[in-house]
Amino acid sequence: MEIRKGIAVSPGVAIAPAVVLDSEQFRIPRRSIEPPEVEAELGRFRAAVEHAQGEVRALRARVTSDVGEKLGAIFDVQDALLTDSHLIDEVAELIQRDHYSAEYAVSQILKSYARKFLALPNRYMADRVADVYDVEKRLLRNLIGARRESLGQLSEPVIIIAHDLTPSQTASLDRSKVLAFATDIGGRTSHTTIVARAMGIPAVVGLKTITAELSGGDVVIVDGNRGLVVINPDEATIARFREAEQRFHRMEKDLGDLRDLPAVTPDGHEVLLWGNIEFPHEVEVCIARGASGIGLYRTEFLYLDRNDDPSEEDHFQAYAEAIDAAKGRPVTIRTCDLGADKFTHLSGEYDERNPFLGCRSIRFSLQHIGLFKTQLRAMLRASALGPTRIMFPLITNLKELRQAKMLLADVREDLEDEGVLFDPDLKVGIMVEVPSAAIMARHFAQECDFFSIGTNDLTQYALAVDRSNERVASLYTPGHPAVLRLIRTVVEAALESGIEVAVCGEMAGEPIYVPVLLGLGIQVFSVSSATLLEIKKVIRTVPIAQAREVCEKVFQFDSDREVDAYLTEIGRRLLPEMIA
Ligand code: PEP
Ligand code: MG
Repeated sequence: MEIRKGIAVSPGVAIAPAVVLDSEQFRIPRRSIEPPEVEAELGRFRAAVEHAQGEVRALRARVTSDVGEKLGAIFDVQDALLTDSHLIDEVAELIQRDHYSAEYAVSQILKSYARKFLALPNRYMADRVADVYDVEKRLLRNLIGARRESLGQLSEPVIIIAHDLTPSQTASLDRSKVLAFATDIGGRTSHTTIVARAMGIPAVVGLKTITAELSGGDVVIVDGNRGLVVINPDEATIARFREAEQRFHRMEKDLGDLRDLPAVTPDGHEVLLWGNIEFPHEVEVCIARGASGIGLYRTEFLYLDRNDDPSEEDHFQAYAEAIDAAKGRPVTIRTCDLGADKFTHLSGEYDERNPFLGCRSIRFSLQHIGLFKTQLRAMLRASALGPTRIMFPLITNLKELRQAKMLLADVREDLEDEGVLFDPDLKVGIMVEVPSAAIMARHFAQECDFFSIGTNDLTQYALAVDRSNERVASLYTPGHPAVLRLIRTVVEAALESGIEVAVCGEMAGEPIYVPVLLGLGIQVFSVSSATLLEIKKVIRTVPIAQAREVCEKVFQFDSDREVDAYLTEIGRRLLPEMIA
């Protein structure tokens, strides 16, 4: 039995035999054709392209109707590749000029495209290499006619193990047969991850060598809550995880009962429990799981898979959809957090050595004022439709906040002049996710309406640990005393100035940290839809008096190890069924 730790990207636990996708790759021999066969070969190639286009478009339509337009649009990249005349001509030329078989020509040209994508400095574009591989496989499948073991025809429940899964492979997984998946590579922002979460498939990514360590048929456990994969588990481990699996399902079911109950501690201290979203259609999911508002709408996902900028109308439509779905509950729209690991077509113009310390987020917005104002106009217009709040990410100094607010004021004036409606009392807040902003929180509190602490970045910047690098993942914990002290500074500043303070980083969705955040005085917990009910359960279990005691104790420790061990122990005592 072996245990591997990866990145937990989609919650749930599953146990089943593995299907290892990479062992089913096509092998394409270098085959030549005779000159009289060229025309027929070109015909075969064109038919394969046409058929592949039909498949991609059908898939797009299915995904759009199942999980929404934004996810469906993921397939536009593949459609664009299949209609790219340059690509088609290159393949045709290899067939005509060099007399290669259509299969070999396709494989050669698509591989050269994949290499070009991978060499791009723009991480977002490099990630699109998955779409190139997908198009290659699709064309080859059509050309060869021989079918790979189709994931659509699985007869038994399985766990998929792959080097990487393309978005379309993920979207076409049969949810009743594919219990989970695990991959060698991948990160939080990949399309595959987004699709997995939207479909509710437990998943662990970033396992580096999992495909090499497993053979098809090996029994495997995927724990998407903790990012664990257990290979060939022994009987006792299977029993333990089976129990965890059942507990997870039971808990999910039981938690449903909490949906309409308030997020209040047993001794009457009430907090707000809100949802984090990337796409407007997720508002409905959050509300179905009892969210009383949206604390973070990551609007940069509007830029996914586009070769142009979203128009004001694109922005407006998305915000209007979210606000409409929230039915009177507040929606906190964050201005685009582009750069670092989330790129636009514009980012290709820059090559940054340290993108997480580069032109990211509000810095990007302030350097692209046209784009920023377009977004602000759409946000203001949408604010006329229901309670809306605007939030600026990655603020590091007061000048940035003042510039952003000044641009917002400009846009307000323009809209007033044009007679366009918006909410004149719209609240404006900042994400506190950089140590400089946390330390200077008192000053920021004088100039904004609320704070939302982004613990994902705050931890990364306070500890100098890349949040997406699996090699230093063990150093990354919001339980580090330095991170906790920064959070305390922010809360104290907010309480002193009477402004609201939320946490919207993943820390708020981790049950063990709830007591300390409650004890510190956090008023809003904004978490992903998957963890909403779990967090409500913790809040409803911990008396505020005890949370304050836990908090006091935690601040006596000088290492993250002690903090995390203590909080896990407290969590286990309070909620043994939840914190194993
Ligand atoms: C954070 O940094 O904690 C946060 C919520 O923002 P994001 O994860 O989008 O960077
Ligand atoms: Mg952040």
